[in-house]
Amino acid sequence: MISNHRGIGMTSQRTRDRLITRLKEQGIQHPGVLAIMKALPRHLFVDEALASRAYEDTALPIGHGQTISQPFIVARMTEILLEGLPKNKVLEVGTGSGYQTAVLSRLVERVFSVERISPLQNQARERFYQLKFNNIRLKHSDGSWGWEENAPYDGIIVTCAPEQIPTELLKQLAPGGRLVIPVGGSAEQSLRVIDRNGNSFEETELDAVSFVPLLSGHI
Ligand code: SAH
Repeated sequence: MISNHRGIGMTSQRTRDRLITRLKEQGIQHPGVLAIMKALPRHLFVDEALASRAYEDTALPIGHGQTISQPFIVARMTEILLEGLPKNKVLEVGTGSGYQTAVLSRLVERVFSVERISPLQNQARERFYQLKFNNIRLKHSDGSWGWEENAPYDGIIVTCAPEQIPTELLKQLAPGGRLVIPVGGSAEQSLRVIDRNGNSFEETELDAVSFVPLLSGHI
């Protein structure tokens, strides 16, 4: 059961509005991304003890050594993913708290999200149920293998960093589709964008980033 702890002090709409102002100052422009992040209560995706910090622009712990991504990086990756062709079907690797999943679910038709840590997935599922998000499907597995049954995807977003891009993810990308993924070890990572045109893949390297590692297997 998720308590509401809404509406007061540091979790109020005004606090969320300030976050949106900061995101705009940092260059986020996509009206849909800004609108959903303005409306979505990020504090419901973290532990009650951390709720008052939910609208700071930082990553926060969500247990099991994992973190909910920083709002700016969620906004930036979503904006990049949605550029160009419409994205009807999107795959996310690394559900975590479910916040990025929820942002996506309001901007595309269907979201498929894979998580390797079962308790995190169960918590996210409960949040989607409570908040009435019903275009999200979840799978407990190692997302390096994608989710073949529903492929191809118009977009794939990865919220943990592999050392190298898993080839299965490239295979499951639709022609014209786009993959947004942090790549690298703990010392040095960068955000990459891979566009598929027919059977060729064009890679662009963007900002330096810092994500938890993509790990193999599921627990
Ligand atoms: N989008 C999430 C990010 C959570 S951190 C959020 O904003 O809350 C990244 C998540 O990726 C963690 O939950 C971690 O368990 C998961 N992860 C790491 N390796 C994975 C893999 N191989 N397959 C699926 N999920 C993985």
